Amino acid sequence: MVFNKLGRFTTYSITLTMNPLLYCLAAGLLFLIPFSPLYADDHEKLKVLYMGGRGHDSPGYEKFLTAFLADQGGFDLVISNKLDDLRTGTIEKYDVVLFFGSGGDFTDPAQEKGFENYLKNGGGVVGIHATDAFKKSDVYWKIFGGQFIGHGGGTFPIEFTDTTHPITKGMKGFEITDESYRDKFHPATIDKLHHLGRINRGNEKHSMIWVHEYGKGRLFSTGLGHDEKAWSNPALQKLTLRALRWVARKPIKDPK
Ligand SMILES: [Zn+2]
Repeated sequence: MVFNKLGRFTTYSITLTMNPLLYCLAAGLLFLIPFSPLYADDHEKLKVLYMGGRGHDSPGYEKFLTAFLADQGGFDLVISNKLDDLRTGTIEKYDVVLFFGSGGDFTDPAQEKGFENYLKNGGGVVGIHATDAFKKSDVYWKIFGGQFIGHGGGTFPIEFTDTTHPITKGMKGFEITDESYRDKFHPATIDKLHHLGRINRGNEKHSMIWVHEYGKGRLFSTGLGHDEKAWSNPALQKLTLRALRWVARKPIKDPK
């Protein structure tokens, strides 16, 4: 009412009618800001299911990953470690399943089946230091492509064997203090893996970074990532972030 009354004075009408509008917008924004971390664009965030909790420092990795992805933004990370979350009916809620660490075994065939169907139907999987896991499962080995058979250690160079792939594009080789996971490759998928990088130290020249398109799904796997020293390596962080987005078919972004 007040605005209509004042609006009659044409000289001032624009100013006077705009001000309340701006005021309302500002008030609206002030109301929204405190709540935005909870409600903003959840559907646009990548939902990542963390599947660790077996061998290696899973709590340490969870802590690192939680902070890292929070800094980057755009991720909704769910720390699960519950194998039943791999079952059909649950796993589809996630854009990416991230496996970390060694050991473990499926406790119900429905977990393995759910995981495989998820991949076949277009799911995304990132494996960090995760080929020494679920070793009784032929399906896990087939999907990952490689299964751990041994490792050296220390500080060694990684060289990229393909820098045209979105995950490695423009990256230069790097040094890392880590374990040099060596794998045997599954006969059914050995020819389907796309290798991106390898260790290059003396006789150790084996692949340590690859991707695998399985059905409609995408997997990224690296043997790197034994402990905090490795996780703090910027090149491994860059690969991990790019991989999370690539397997989910999102445009690549680099760490801030
Ligand atoms: Zn290790």
